[in-house]
Amino acid sequence: MIMLDEFIHMPRIAYFSMEIALQNEIPTYAGGLGVLAGDTLRSATDLDLPMVAVSLVSRAGYFRQEIDAQGRQSEHPANWDPAGLAQALDARIAVLIEGRKVWISAWLYVLKGHMGGRQPVLLLDTDLDENSSDDRKITHYLYGGDNVYRLKQEIVLGLGGARLLQALGFTIRHYHMNEGHSALLGLELMRRYTYSAEHLRPGESQYDIPRVRDLCSFTTHTPVEAGHDRFSYDLVRRVLDNGFDFEMLKHLAGEDSLNMTRLALNLSEYVNGVARKHAEISNAMFPGYRVHAITNGVHPYTWASAGFRQIYDQHVPGWCHEPQLLIRADCCIPDTVIWQAHVQAKQQLIEKVQVLTGVVLNPQIPVIGFARRMTAYKRPDLLFSDLERLKAIARKRPFQIVLAGKAHPRDENGKHVIAQLHDHARALAGTITVAYLPDYDLALAQTLTAGVDAWLNTPLPPMEASGTSGMKAAFNGVPNLSVLDGWWLEGCIEGVTGWAIGAAADIPDGDAQALYDKLDQIVLPLYYDDTSGWIKVMKGAISKNASYFNSHRMMRRYATEAYGR
Ligand SMILES: *Cc1c(COP(=O)(O)O)cnc(C)c1O
Repeated sequence: MIMLDEFIHMPRIAYFSMEIALQNEIPTYAGGLGVLAGDTLRSATDLDLPMVAVSLVSRAGYFRQEIDAQGRQSEHPANWDPAGLAQALDARIAVLIEGRKVWISAWLYVLKGHMGGRQPVLLLDTDLDENSSDDRKITHYLYGGDNVYRLKQEIVLGLGGARLLQALGFTIRHYHMNEGHSALLGLELMRRYTYSAEHLRPGESQYDIPRVRDLCSFTTHTPVEAGHDRFSYDLVRRVLDNGFDFEMLKHLAGEDSLNMTRLALNLSEYVNGVARKHAEISNAMFPGYRVHAITNGVHPYTWASAGFRQIYDQHVPGWCHEPQLLIRADCCIPDTVIWQAHVQAKQQLIEKVQVLTGVVLNPQIPVIGFARRMTAYKRPDLLFSDLERLKAIARKRPFQIVLAGKAHPRDENGKHVIAQLHDHARALAGTITVAYLPDYDLALAQTLTAGVDAWLNTPLPPMEASGTSGMKAAFNGVPNLSVLDGWWLEGCIEGVTGWAIGAAADIPDGDAQALYDKLDQIVLPLYYDDTSGWIKVMKGAISKNASYFNSHRMMRRYATEAYGR
């Protein structure tokens, strides 16, 4: 076990996440949650905060998206070979699933920071000769299959992950659950920390729950009740039969069904939401718990384009380690330097768009970008609510639109929206150039958030727990034009860092008009008529948003407030 020696000699924070975006070639993520997990680890690496991430190997990835001429999405396995990028570990442990032993091993992926740090990642794998062909597939498909499949994955992640860490010799000083998927790890810790029977008084639990809670922190990401994973106790009895005390489980995870969020809440001393507003909503949703707010951030080096890295290195030395220094960007970087770095990033986007879609964008015309998971609450079609109005705005001052995003394979509505967006693009042809880039991933997100002129976000409040892609844009001097929800409630200074669409309490329909008005009367006039005013907003995005909404600040807070107790 030579290769692990480097990592097991000091206590670490174990970070459990169903998905994690490690590098573009490894498709073990579906969207913002996984990218956040990756940025969390990347910042911990730069800050020398010893962690070990635990996730699933997801050999078939999330999926590779193809889109035909009609805008119909088809999904293909995004198979990857862990042997090429990670090392197989010999250790294996078993968990009981449906009464059978399912063996779990792991791949060691070493995340290498750009400042020389190294951090271990365990990618759990059940595709072993010891397992039945069904069980071998448990770690194949990220967010694939039905509820039974999902529960099996969560047993592997939570119970299996905690056991494997122990078998490998890690000393874990704290456990961090990124979303409720890994909450079963708490059950493993309860099994580990019990009072011996002779010290128990009648009615006292054998489990040392205070000790388990002290060891765990939980970050919730879902602002609506329906978004939390739930499993019926019938299913749980059948699948997760580990001789566990079911009365105790119901006590911790809900009487009617096993609610992973409840379980995580009850087994974690420190709980947080991912933006101030989201913490408020979570506090109202879960009375009796104290949900703190640690607003998300993105990893500075990863999300600044090559051109911006270079100018920050020159004008704001040290920005990579202390991104709060970017607060000086507005006075320390000349306008022309900012503009040139942007023009370079925009050119790269234009080339990528042509390669991927054949669409030719005009570098002189502003590009509005919208890319994220294509799901109803993100309202990707809001911009296209009134095509005549949109065309009228573009006839006065032209603009172009670039879109990207995947719909979950079972999200028929999301897929329908992708097809509709293609219809809209056709209907606008000749007046507004629209490109839809297939297979949105880390690399595409880098090119897009850096290369567009304005980054659009139109979630239905209060559904956007945080959102992070707008923060990536800020690192590239790209202003946000967004509905006031999630992080933008904290990030928006009107006309200084970007623009709000409507007021915070807007009714959904009102937002399309508010969006058109803002575009027509404020955003496009500034772009065309006042270049220095526009660059001032670009600098505002860097100095007031990138300086704060970064994962270094986020990790320093987790380290002191969640892990450091
Ligand atoms: C950042 C990112 C997201 C999250 O985007 P939001 O707008 O915050 O939802 C999703 N997918 C990829 C590939 C990303 O890089």
